[in-house]
Amino acid sequence: MATASLDNAARVSEPVPPPALQGAPAVESARPSVIGLTRPALKDKLLAIGVPEKEARMRVSQIWHWLYHRGIQDFDEMTNVGKVLRRGLAEAYTLDRPEVTAEQISVDGTRKWLLRMPKTGPHDRGAEIECVYIPDDDRGTLCVSSQVGCTLTCSFCHTGTQRLVRNLTSAEIAAQLVVARDRLGDFPTLGDRESAVLPDGGRLVTNIVFMGMGEPLYNLDNVAAAIDVMSDGEGLTLSRRRITVSTSGVVPEMSALGERTNTMLAISLHAVRDDLRNELVPLNKRYPIADLLQACRDYPGLSNARRITFEYVMLKGVNDSDADARELVRLLRGIPAKINLIPFNPWPGTKYECSSWERIERFSEIVFRAGYASPVRTPRGRDILAACGQLKSETEKLSARARLMLEEGRAGA
Ligand code: SAH
Ligand code: SF4
Repeated sequence: MATASLDNAARVSEPVPPPALQGAPAVESARPSVIGLTRPALKDKLLAIGVPEKEARMRVSQIWHWLYHRGIQDFDEMTNVGKVLRRGLAEAYTLDRPEVTAEQISVDGTRKWLLRMPKTGPHDRGAEIECVYIPDDDRGTLCVSSQVGCTLTCSFCHTGTQRLVRNLTSAEIAAQLVVARDRLGDFPTLGDRESAVLPDGGRLVTNIVFMGMGEPLYNLDNVAAAIDVMSDGEGLTLSRRRITVSTSGVVPEMSALGERTNTMLAISLHAVRDDLRNELVPLNKRYPIADLLQACRDYPGLSNARRITFEYVMLKGVNDSDADARELVRLLRGIPAKINLIPFNPWPGTKYECSSWERIERFSEIVFRAGYASPVRTPRGRDILAACGQLKSETEKLSARARLMLEEGRAGA
């Protein structure tokens, strides 16, 4: 299935990613990591080191368990895998995770990790992305990135101002969950193997949202493969119903997302009129509100038990009037929906302000009276710039010249 490419995305809005970075495949280092690989990709790695075809499936299952259920970091811990194969694996591959170059912990418990991905070429120092963990009483949500940066330029979003853009590979996406489980101690205990389950099967990461950097539907093949890894019942075991993919409205890919991943859908709506949405979410010029809502009505598996979440960022004096609220509920009539009001998270240089609390409450009340649950998303991790739309990697904060130096490996020289 063809998915929209970065080239397509680049036509919608500027800036265009540098050609060298557009979807560049990861250049395999001497010993590539197998972390984040799908079952078929792992099988290929085994065949490549001489594991016979008839044995490969069984070996994949064994190794899968160690990688994704136990979270081991050394091939020698695979006690039911023979020594010879363990040595063969260690000689050809690693269990390296993306490098955590910074960790910040907010006063509210939110954690943000800056992750450096493997290099994509000789001039790349390894792209950096952010991944955020948000603990709540009844759940723990991991917000993952699907691209480095974003080619779309929503006017209220910090990520959209980042220049470096490339698709993440499926392994890089799935590895974000592995890193989170490592850092949180969220793999079954490695000490006592027999009792290696967390109490009540309780895990710290229970939900995934694709609400970090990037537009997931411009990278659907890799997002879908990563979801296969994350939701595999013998590994990372995240239920597909607890995985939500958020899109700014890439209409032609929406039904494919539902069919291929069976996950929950979130739509970044943010405006109820095309003229305003064109400004806030420029992709609307290509896929206007009426087309977007029709694609929502057609979303596979849509029902009252599987509602679509409509995200609506509250921008002072821009989209937050009573009339906007009434039009919102009118537009969504007939679509099983939840409406998620997001207080705008400001970032340096933005022209927008967050609506007042009274305004948000009034807006929420109109939506609620029309029969929609309308939780206001509590801003989390504001002190560490981890809230929605504030994800932006350190690389981008460097001047162009400093970046060039780093990319050429001359930093600090
Ligand atoms: N690109 C996808 C997913 C990542 S953005 C999308 O746009 O849906 C995740 C959510 O954060 C989106 O709803 C986005 O509109 C919202 N967001 C972006 N910047 C924000 C900001 N500064 N304050 C609040 N929400 C923001
Ligand atoms: Fe990209 Fe989403 Fe930000 Fe828009 S809101 S620029 S689609 S990450």
